Amino acid sequence: QFIAIEGGEGSGKSTQAKLLAEALKARGLDVDLTREPGGTPGAEAIRGLLLHPPGEGWGAEAEALLFAAARADHVARRIKPALEAGRWVVCDRFVDSSRAYQGGAGGVGDETVRALHEIGSGGLRPDVTLLIAVDPTVASRRIAQRDGNAADAIGGRGQLYHAAVARAFKEMAEAEPHRFVLVDGNGPPEAVQARLIGALTPMLEQ
Ligand code: C5P
Repeated sequence: QFIAIEGGEGSGKSTQAKLLAEALKARGLDVDLTREPGGTPGAEAIRGLLLHPPGEGWGAEAEALLFAAARADHVARRIKPALEAGRWVVCDRFVDSSRAYQGGAGGVGDETVRALHEIGSGGLRPDVTLLIAVDPTVASRRIAQRDGNAADAIGGRGQLYHAAVARAFKEMAEAEPHRFVLVDGNGPPEAVQARLIGALTPMLEQ
């Protein structure tokens, strides 16, 4: 099974991805926890280019292509082989992040991002996409509190950009209710994790 975890900055998705992978392992499942951009040496190198852009930064199209290139490597070298071997894959961000950030907020457009994903990664789709949503005030507080992670964000984006990301995620979830599960990300990590496991119960009982 392929589980993607999505959300904006400060949604707590990376913490939740780790906790989820541990919970699945504790149930005896063979789990590969990975992330985007990244997950393979090549894709991690592209992540470095994205997080530390040269000079004036990347244009929206170049950024979309870099994310798609990183994903193509990640899918071909790690995600697909893991799924083919019958493993569970938990991925911190996947193509829906590109659709929300580059496609929606960045203005590249959903069709273009999907076309790039089709070319690069055969249009691979998660079995379930957990979308963690938090109140904007909670997200800002978490971002302000997290230390050391500042280098892990693409800078220079304002509140409008992040509001557009949140809107795009919400629209995607509404358009594909069978794949998306909306998880309330407010509150302590354990509470969010319990909601997340609750949402996955049907899948775990299969
Ligand atoms: O999820 P994580 O915090 O590791 O993402 C790293 C950075 O990349 C964040 O600043 C995030 O906003 C950005 N990002 C992006 N477009 C994506 C995925 C991540 O701009 N498709």
